[in-house]
Amino acid sequence: MDSQTLTRPAVLILLGPPGAGKGTQARMLQDRFGLVQLSTGDLLRAAVAAGTEAGKAAKAVMEAGDLVSDEIVLAILRDRLAEPDTAKGVILDGFPRTTVQAKALDDLLAQSGQRINAAISLEVDDAEMVTRVAGRYTCGTCGEGYHDTYKVPAVAGTCDKCGGTDMKRRADDNAATVGQRLAAYHAQTAPLIAYYEDKGNLQRIDAMGEIGAIAEGLSAIVQKAVA
Ligand code: AMP
Repeated sequence: MDSQTLTRPAVLILLGPPGAGKGTQARMLQDRFGLVQLSTGDLLRAAVAAGTEAGKAAKAVMEAGDLVSDEIVLAILRDRLAEPDTAKGVILDGFPRTTVQAKALDDLLAQSGQRINAAISLEVDDAEMVTRVAGRYTCGTCGEGYHDTYKVPAVAGTCDKCGGTDMKRRADDNAATVGQRLAAYHAQTAPLIAYYEDKGNLQRIDAMGEIGAIAEGLSAIVQKAVA
């Protein structure tokens, strides 16, 4: 381990189709390693809710299950990376999603002498993803995730973690849009697995199992990657 590695902020990438568990696992890694989860989907949803120019341009594209333009996503990502809380390191959740974004990230990191510690591919079966995504919802207060079948709160409609009762479902978490999101993943994002494999950054994890077991496997990968 050299001194540069110690002082350089960690950059981890979670790759995987919608429903693979990127958000759930990124939240866990954030708590465990003190890194910041950076979800371009969350940033875009916030832009849509705030009615910014970027949000207005992104709204219909997101509702159709297509990818928002690289230009908009890169601008949002750059702004977020400029905030001081990212100094210890970031877990990129849902970014990059295209080769253009991956190359732009390489350039951005090179400018500040940073590098990617690991790109981790969460490997899952497509058939399962539609069920997973179509049944999920989150607590609007604390962001804890739930599912109609796989993870129901102890008291229906009340968050186990914070007691909040404002449960939210994403507009794009319906069976029709999920199909298009999966297609976009295979056409535009899956090629990034080979991109990071060629660079020697790729790690793979079977993400079909139980959330806690996957979290343990991921933690072991991250522990090594940031050491
Ligand atoms: P997610 O929350 O990661 O599932 O993203 C939700 C939606 O936001 C996607 O279906 C895309 O429309 C858009 N989106 C999120 N991240 C990106 C990205 N890196 N590039 C393009 N579009 C994105």
